Amino acid sequence: MQPLSKIVVVGGGSSGWLAAAMLCHHLKRELCEIELIESEEIGTIGVGESTVPPFVGLIQRLGIDEQDFIRATDATYKLGIQFVGWHRRTDTYFHPFGGIGKPIGSYDFYQCWLKARARGHTSSLQDFSPCNVMAENGRFFPPSRARNTPIGGANYALHVDAALVARYLRDYAEARGLQRTEGRVTDVHRRDNGFIDHLVLEDGRQVRGDFFIDCTGFRGLLIGKALGVESIDWSEYLPCDRAIAVRTENQGPRLPYTQAIAQKSGWMWRIPLQRRMGQGYVYSSRFCSDAEARSTLLRNLGSACLDEPRVIPFSTGHRRELWKHNCLSVGLAGGFIEPLEATAIHLIARGMDFFLRYFPARDCDPALIREYNRRMTADYEEVRDFIVLHYSATDRDDSPFWQACRQIPLPESLEERIELFKSQGATREGVDELFRASSWQSIFEGMGIRPRAYSPRVDNIDYSQIEATLRTARAAIAGMVEHLPTHEQFLSSQLGESASP
Ligand code: FAD
Repeated sequence: MQPLSKIVVVGGGSSGWLAAAMLCHHLKRELCEIELIESEEIGTIGVGESTVPPFVGLIQRLGIDEQDFIRATDATYKLGIQFVGWHRRTDTYFHPFGGIGKPIGSYDFYQCWLKARARGHTSSLQDFSPCNVMAENGRFFPPSRARNTPIGGANYALHVDAALVARYLRDYAEARGLQRTEGRVTDVHRRDNGFIDHLVLEDGRQVRGDFFIDCTGFRGLLIGKALGVESIDWSEYLPCDRAIAVRTENQGPRLPYTQAIAQKSGWMWRIPLQRRMGQGYVYSSRFCSDAEARSTLLRNLGSACLDEPRVIPFSTGHRRELWKHNCLSVGLAGGFIEPLEATAIHLIARGMDFFLRYFPARDCDPALIREYNRRMTADYEEVRDFIVLHYSATDRDDSPFWQACRQIPLPESLEERIELFKSQGATREGVDELFRASSWQSIFEGMGIRPRAYSPRVDNIDYSQIEATLRTARAAIAGMVEHLPTHEQFLSSQLGESASP
């Protein structure tokens, strides 16, 4: 077996630099050279500011100091997502990170809570989510510093400036021996066996490699254009295909969560950073023109624009083969499932984790490629199902967009998940489990889907024990959160600033 001695990453957006940083961390430069080619002239997509908790773990695994990263990337803390107007126009619900409640004896918390609700108990499920209670009160404290307390089961992610993250990871990779090449790839040369041999840049330079990682964004220059791998189109399940994004001034205290606010033909995001906000409207071109989207966005911003709103067309789905021959596609080149749950950066990291797990020799054994593609496809499908649920379960019928959402054909796997949940509140174990049972329960509950019954196993525990536990657990979380710093205070303490309460 001949080992890979050179890997070429094409693209310097979030995916290119994250892939490069992970390779630099895991591979010794004396054994494997890593080169990244990017074209400043083409530029990056420049959005992607909300993350999920595994991102914080990834930063730690790369040996990056979290506080330093937060300072350098204009980051704020994220406890979950607030959904406004998704189930009904006037409803709001929260998807928190981390756990919700703790098992009562050997009994699942959610099942105990369902039984209590059936008996007339009035606490909401989210009263037992430390992240939700912190978010409602604008508080933040890292659960890792409060493990054996009522907020110990919480978790968090970050809101980040995508360009600053790319810059940070570039410095990280370059400090570990990565070679960066500025230039536009204009041609891809393949060998007789279909493998990529070398790339040609606009100025005639040739770049050879044993393995190529396509991070060229929606262009998919290597995986799509050169290797001809098609995309599986998920537009029948996911109605939105455009976004208009803008940077704005911050308004009021920076919230420790992302807001996803439903609109007539899609939804708006609000992502608070330290010095500004990222805002945007994700919409369906079937129901809304760019001009209408722009005016909806500007009307709802609530603070002054810092740049010109920018329209970003996108498609949802993923490459039929994310890895083919000696080419792996990562980031938008590999696939995209709209930004509602901020999963794209996670899928980039996941793609690289699996690549490192099934790390090939130069011949790229097809068995490794098959397994990689199977695992990644399962991850993509899991995320797709989770996001489709947010739209398809709506009760809204006040605009053609929301009427169409109610008619979305469900993927079979989602239909099965819904049936399973409606039966007794059970959730299917996933492959990735980015979205664990508490995430599914939160969305089901928020979208008005409740199980028909609780699991009869819960009848083996005294109801008085359930009731007493719920009472004390709820009070313990609320009592502790009351004494935590506000998000503003905690953030300022990390940045070395003085904060207003
Ligand atoms: P790009 O940023 O497009 O980078 C492509 C790179 O390839 C550039 O450096 C470019 O110069 C280079 N390139 C292209 N062609 C060539 C060539 N011929 N030669 C040399 N270089 C070339 N993700 C999240 O995780 N959270 C979010 O909140 C989130 N929000 C989003 C909102 C919207 C509206 C959209 C569309 C996406 C969002 N995403 C989000 C996804 C996120 O933006 C992307 O996953 C992420 O930015 C990665 O992009 P990329 O690096 O794959 O592509």
